Amino acid sequence: QAKLAGKNRYQIFDAEQDRNVRGHHESLERIRDALTANEFVLHYQPKVNMRTGEIMGVEALIRWQHPEKGLLPPAVFLPVIEDHQLAIPVGEWVINTALTQMEVWQTTGLDIHVSVNISARHLQREDFVERLSDILAQHPNVAPSRFGMEVLETSALEDLAHASRVIEACQKIGVMFALDDFGTGYSSLTYLKRLPVKLLKIDQSFVRDMLDDPDDLAILVGVTGLANAFRRQVIAEGVETVAHGSMLLKLGCELAQGYGIARPMPAESLPSWVTRWRPEPDWEHQHSVHHE
Ligand code: C2E
Ligand code: MG
Ligand code: MG
Ligand code: MG
Repeated sequence: QAKLAGKNRYQIFDAEQDRNVRGHHESLERIRDALTANEFVLHYQPKVNMRTGEIMGVEALIRWQHPEKGLLPPAVFLPVIEDHQLAIPVGEWVINTALTQMEVWQTTGLDIHVSVNISARHLQREDFVERLSDILAQHPNVAPSRFGMEVLETSALEDLAHASRVIEACQKIGVMFALDDFGTGYSSLTYLKRLPVKLLKIDQSFVRDMLDDPDDLAILVGVTGLANAFRRQVIAEGVETVAHGSMLLKLGCELAQGYGIARPMPAESLPSWVTRWRPEPDWEHQHSVHHE
């Protein structure tokens, strides 16, 4: 395991070095080629209700199966394209691939909600809703209500009025939105007020230290209360330990995602994970979480 982490680190370093040496454009070229060569893959991370044990769905996360460097995380290539046109075809590839995967899972009897991450730049395209409807129409076996989107509260969502109209239009056809990494953007409350998203994803940075840092705990209490007051669902990201889960349940935050539940996994691994998974019994019964 340690060896694996070391290897991955080396791969990331290598990719960054590549970018520095060969320059921005060639990286863009390489990413464009990767799209054509079908080198991207989606991994899927479950979201669960810790109280009821229900599996809420999975989040699709992009990786690059690089022929020489192995499996690269999005941090290595998404920042290169985020301000570039290429973000659009990559975003559409993600939507298409997730919907295709849902159809494959359906044929094996697994009907599961899938959400994809969408860049703010992509969301702000004039034809976003039209394109999404077209892609959904190409997957008639997938109910749009089984498909969702996550968008970061970033300054790129500057035109809140427009973003809000787009989100509204998508939700009208059944595709619900989540606000990702909630609490890290510079104007969370304005976003919360203006964007009609159904779900808030509390950023993992607050969850990580919640048991040691009273300020992070206070933020979690506050955001959970805020979400309830605004009639939005709330999910905690980055739930790594049983103690995290128990504390979140005590705060009234039942939905969770994190390595403590499942790591992102290849599509083939999901059906057996779904049959194997049981909620952690100690989530409900652990009381002195501060000293765990
Ligand atoms: P995100 O959407 O907030 O996704 C959560 C990230 O945290 C994922 O990293 C996931 O693997 C990681 N994670 C999940 N549980 C835990 C945990 O318990 N502990 C820790 N330390 N990490 C955890 P990943 O896959 O590297 O993705 C990073 C970010 O890249 C995502 O953050 C999302 O903003 C972006 N991203 C990923 N896939 C796509 C995509 O297809 N399109 C777009 N536009 N962005 C994507
Ligand atoms: Mg996300
Ligand atoms: Mg997030
Ligand atoms: Mg994130």
